[in-house]
Amino acid sequence: MPDLWTVSGIAIVVLLYAVIYVWYRWKLSDAQKLLILAKTETREVAQIPLNNPHPILQINRNGDIVYANTTAQNAFPDLNAADGKQAILGGVDIFWRMGGGDREITYSDKAYAQNCMLSSMAGEETMLIYCYDITALKRSEMKLKQAYETAEKARAIAEKAKDARGQFLANMSHELRTPMSGIIGISDILCEAPMPHDQKDLVEAVNTSSRNLLILLNDILDFSKIEAGELALETIPFDLTKVIAQVEKLHMTVASRKELSLKCEIQKDVPHFVKGDPTRLQQILNNLIGNAIKFTDSGSVTIATSLKEDRKDHAVIEIAVQDTGIGIPKDRQDKIFEKFQQADESTARKYGGTGLGLAITKDLVTLMKGTIRIESEEGKGTAFIITLPLERAYAEEAAAEKASFDKNAISGINKNARILIVDDHPVNLLFMRQVMKRFGFQHCDEASDGKQAIALYKENHYDLVLMDCQMPHMSGFEAARIMRADKDCRSVIIAITADISQGIEDKCNETGMNAYISKPVDQDKLLSIFQKWIPGENDLMFEETSMQNNTKPSPSDNSIMFDWDLFNSFTDGDQELHNELITLFIDNLIIDLDAMKDYLDRQDYENWERVAHKISGACSHIGARSMAQICRDAEAVPLDEPEKISEMHQIILDQYKVLHDHLREQYAA
Ligand code: ADP
Repeated sequence: MPDLWTVSGIAIVVLLYAVIYVWYRWKLSDAQKLLILAKTETREVAQIPLNNPHPILQINRNGDIVYANTTAQNAFPDLNAADGKQAILGGVDIFWRMGGGDREITYSDKAYAQNCMLSSMAGEETMLIYCYDITALKRSEMKLKQAYETAEKARAIAEKAKDARGQFLANMSHELRTPMSGIIGISDILCEAPMPHDQKDLVEAVNTSSRNLLILLNDILDFSKIEAGELALETIPFDLTKVIAQVEKLHMTVASRKELSLKCEIQKDVPHFVKGDPTRLQQILNNLIGNAIKFTDSGSVTIATSLKEDRKDHAVIEIAVQDTGIGIPKDRQDKIFEKFQQADESTARKYGGTGLGLAITKDLVTLMKGTIRIESEEGKGTAFIITLPLERAYAEEAAAEKASFDKNAISGINKNARILIVDDHPVNLLFMRQVMKRFGFQHCDEASDGKQAIALYKENHYDLVLMDCQMPHMSGFEAARIMRADKDCRSVIIAITADISQGIEDKCNETGMNAYISKPVDQDKLLSIFQKWIPGENDLMFEETSMQNNTKPSPSDNSIMFDWDLFNSFTDGDQELHNELITLFIDNLIIDLDAMKDYLDRQDYENWERVAHKISGACSHIGARSMAQICRDAEAVPLDEPEKISEMHQIILDQYKVLHDHLREQYAA
């Protein structure tokens, strides 16, 4: 242990030394101090090239180079020449004022980042310039930039294509949903009409198939939703065997036209009543059976349903759609489940199709927690086998679900309400008129555009206006706005539109409409809207309207020429409506036939066929069956056979004459 004296001695010596050092520094002249600083800095700077592999320069305020390390001398050999100096140091002056800064220069194909900072050397202010070689960095930056620009371009193109696709789908949706709403609505009404069983089956098949078509249409529109896994399935009780039998019936006509036998085998232990999404199941089966028939030229298509597992709360059902068709090559069997994929390039040309069906089918099966697999041999046939776990249900549950349109529900609505139906499409007007009649409304007026609607609105009071949105002359939106601008307007305005794009509901609300219903109009939904918006009147009963109120003769010998039964079922024997529809039909037919003639003269066969298609649709709607068939045949004539097209054109004109005479005769009678 050092004694106290030794410790105190050491402390005193250290203290004395410190006092002497401070005194010495304080006593040094400024010049001496600067000299010491300069020496230290020089020593430090001299260390820099040793430690630092980058070029380092030091300049004074005159721009003279006071220091350049060896790396700098090697990197910039012409440093002392005016040009070289300018290339390396030109423009750094600004950093004197800014107290330093960074910049980039290029020198003989190389890029340098210069870091300039002020420093002093022996009291004189200097600028130290560190030059970092960033050539490699710059190159990769350039590459990245190029890659980014390419990606940006691709993104912009994809974005544009996406917008175009969205717009196309929205337009297609509108174009397709309008006629679809007519078909579904009218077949809905026909389904309720008394008629022989075999006819009822057919009408129900039309109804089911058009509903499925609409669902498929919606699926395509919402394809991005499916891809994102946002598609929701229903879980309702339904009769499984009936769904399968319905799908079979739907495809029977096409199969027999190809002389294929379409068989449906359902094993005895398969439960009838299950819970799930019958519409989506039909969509899956429609696609598989449709494909099986399409890709089979001879033989059979079999839908075999069996019970694979029988668990306590659910049954695993296997449905195999087996055909004897062309088969699918082994190496394409996985691919065909991807969207827009077909077995080979010639498929679309030979058989048509888009390659979407199986992609949607697989998505749907997966959503149902099921599986789908394929067994196929080229030239021998294909089997698509799906397995679905389905919860069991009871017959009463399924029956309760089906009886959704309850006639008694209508009894709470005031049938004296005045209603204005506004739609530019005669078929839709007809449909809505029929629905209003079924609901028992006594006072219904009609307008075929917004302007007419406003004119009627000014003259009458309407409790409810059913307003189509897109119409010529004045849209439904504008008409609703005008009605709402009237401070006395008390009408409930319901928008009815084929547009299902996002935001349509907001648009309807903005224009002052009270509710919104999309086409094809679902009668149950419409009824619930009425129940909400029309004041109740419980003592009124549902008015049963007969669909067989024929006032026109229905000559069976002419039933192929013109289906009066069908026609009368639309018009309910209303003579005025009869005349109106027939005149409308003939007027439009004449316009279309003129257009066809024009296209024929101009050898524009594509448009010729398009008009034939249009006529065939109109003729089928109204019941002109022979004309519809001839126009369908015309559509099938190859475009590169002008002689056949001319022949067909003449047949159409002859048929028009016969049809015209027939209609005149009927009216004369
Ligand atoms: P699409 O039928 O519209 O082309 P799908 O996605 O339904 O689209 O089918 C994709 C492809 O799978 C078809 O183009 C066809 O090449 C092949 N394919 C589907 N079903 C069958 C089948 N039963 N027999 C032979 N090939 C089939």
